[in-house]
Amino acid sequence: MTPSEGLLVRRIREGTVIDHIPAGRALAVLRILGITGREGLRVAVVMNVESRRLGRKDIVKVEGRHLSSEEVNRIALIAPSATINIVKDYRVIEKKRVELPELIEGIITCTNPTCITRKPGEPLKPRFKLLSRRPLRLQCTYCGTIIDEEDVLEQLEEASEERR
Ligand SMILES: [Zn+2]
Repeated sequence: MTPSEGLLVRRIREGTVIDHIPAGRALAVLRILGITGREGLRVAVVMNVESRRLGRKDIVKVEGRHLSSEEVNRIALIAPSATINIVKDYRVIEKKRVELPELIEGIITCTNPTCITRKPGEPLKPRFKLLSRRPLRLQCTYCGTIIDEEDVLEQLEEASEERR
């Protein structure tokens, strides 16, 4: 890490630093977390910085916010290389890798319009079985539709449009 990058990453008193995000995915990570910038949280997004591991990477730091394990798992959908650093009193007190579970529930919608999970008033949560991590392939446990990373990213774009 270069000294200036170190400052960007470390100067956070309390909160979460999401590191090793594939370059260009930082905003998608914010969408996954539902962070729009209107919450009053201090958020820093660093894009396309050098990374030994990834070539180029993005970094997101969110002051005063900790992530639930569900949120961490959501990040794994589009940033499987990400590391989550929990910061307290300016120090990283915990570092964890994201991990995509075998079953993903209630985060993404099935792309099949006739799927039972898309029926209005249907209490069924969408549920996907993990077929492959890289490239990402998920299968709806109700109708068998297979969705990939592009579908997931597209849904995140749409979700952020609706919130505006
Ligand atoms: Zn389905």
